[in-house]
Amino acid sequence: MKYDVVIIGGGLSGLVAGITLQKAGKRTAIISTGQNALHFFSGTFESLQEPSQRIKDLFLEAGVRVHYNPGVRLTPMGTFKEAALSLEDIDLFPSEKIGKRVLIVNFQGYHDFFSSFLAEGLEKQGMQCRVRFLNLPELERLQQSPSEMRSVQIARTVDPLWEKVVQEVRLLLKDEDTVILPQVFGLADTSVPGRIRQGIPARVVFAGTLPPSVPGVRTQILLRKRYQLLGGTYLMGDEVVRAHVHEGVVHSVATKNLDSHYVEASEAFILSTGSYFSKGLVANPFRVYEPVFGLDVEYKEDRNAWYNPSFAGDQPYMHFGVKASADLLALKDGEPLQNLYVAGSVLGDTHPEFGSAAGQAIQSALFVADKILGL
Ligand SMILES: Cc1cc2nc3c(=O)[nH]c(=O)nc-3n(C[C@H](O)[C@H](O)[C@H](O)COP(=O)(O)OP(=O)(O)OC[C@H]3O[C@@H](n4cnc5c(N)ncnc54)[C@H](O)[C@@H]3O)c2cc1C
Repeated sequence: MKYDVVIIGGGLSGLVAGITLQKAGKRTAIISTGQNALHFFSGTFESLQEPSQRIKDLFLEAGVRVHYNPGVRLTPMGTFKEAALSLEDIDLFPSEKIGKRVLIVNFQGYHDFFSSFLAEGLEKQGMQCRVRFLNLPELERLQQSPSEMRSVQIARTVDPLWEKVVQEVRLLLKDEDTVILPQVFGLADTSVPGRIRQGIPARVVFAGTLPPSVPGVRTQILLRKRYQLLGGTYLMGDEVVRAHVHEGVVHSVATKNLDSHYVEASEAFILSTGSYFSKGLVANPFRVYEPVFGLDVEYKEDRNAWYNPSFAGDQPYMHFGVKASADLLALKDGEPLQNLYVAGSVLGDTHPEFGSAAGQAIQSALFVADKILGL
C-alpha cells in the first residue's frame, strides 16, 4: 500500500493535516487506533483567540459550525473559563453574570451531568438556581442501565424528540431568564441546539457533561467525513506498531491489522499520535518515550520533577513532548528524520509558537501540511 503521505493518528491534528493535503491533491491515508481527545472535548479550541480565516474555512467546509466572541464560557462545574474559538452550541458570555434566575434541567437517571454542582457554582456567583428533571418515556430503556444512560445514547434518542423537550421545558419554566440543559443534542442533526434555543422563551445554555462529549464526537465525525469525501483513506481501528527507518528516512510502517503488508509513503509521514492519553507518549517508572519510532523526547530525567505535588497546579509532565526541528521534522538521536513530521499534542510544549491544546493541534497540522506541499 503506497500513498503520497501517511498520517499516524486520526485525532484533530491528523484530520486537519489530512484534509489540507487531500484538498491540495495529495493521496493520503490516516491510520488511527481509535478514541482521541475530541471525544472528551469541551467545545472550545483553546489558544485560538484569534483564529485565521483559513481555520474558520476549514471548519465551515466540513460543516463544523464555530464562532468566537471575546468572553467566558460556562464549565460543567458552574465556574467560568476564558473562551477561544468554540463550537456554535457553546455559549460565550461577555461576563460571568449569565442570568439572575436560572433553571437547570437534567434527564431523570442521567448521572453524567452535574446539575447540583452547576447550581452551587452559579449560586456562589449570585445567581438563583432551580434544578428540575425531565422524565421522557422514550428514555426508559436507557434508564434501566446506568452504562446505557450516556451522552451519545441520549443524543441519539432525544435529537428526533427536540420538540417534546421544548414543550416539557416550557412547562417547567417559571420566571427564570436562563435555562441550562446538558450538551446532549445535535449529534447527527446539527440544527437541533438552535431549534431548542428558538423554542424556549428564555436564554438557553448547553453545559458540558462527562465524556463522551457529544459536540466533540460530532466534530470528529464531520471532520472524518470531510476527509473521506476528499478521497482520503481512513484506516480506523488499526495501530502502527513499528517503522522501517534507514539512514534518516522512513520507508514504511507496519500495523497490527495489515500484518506483513507495509504502508509506504512516497513523500512524507506525519506523526500525530497525541499525548499520554492516546499513547502517543508513554511513561514508565524510568522514562518517557515515543513508542513507534523511538524519537527523542524532551522530559526531566529526575522522576520527582515530573509531578507538582499540588493536584490543581501545573503538572510538568504535561509539557513533555517529542523533539522536532524548526520545520517540525522529528528528531532521533539528535538528528532530524528527513520525511517524518510531527503535529499535535505529541509535541507537548516543545514548540510553544503553535499555541497549546486544540489550537496547537490545528496550527501545527496546518504548518506541517504546508511544509509537505512546499508552501
Ligand atoms: C481528555 C482530553 C480532553 C481535552 N479537551 C480539550 C478541550 O476541550 N479543548 C482544547 O483546546 N484541548 C483539549 N485537549 C487537548 C488536546 O490535546 C487537543 O485538543 C487535541 O484534540 C489533540 O489532538 P491530537 O490529534 O494531537 O491528539 P489526539 O486527539 O490524542 O489523537 C491522537 C490519535 O492517535 C491515535 N494513535 C496513537 N498511537 C497510534 C498508533 N501507534 N497508531 C495509530 N494511531 C495511533 C490515537 O488513538 C488517537 O486517535 C484535551 C486533551 C485531552 C487528553
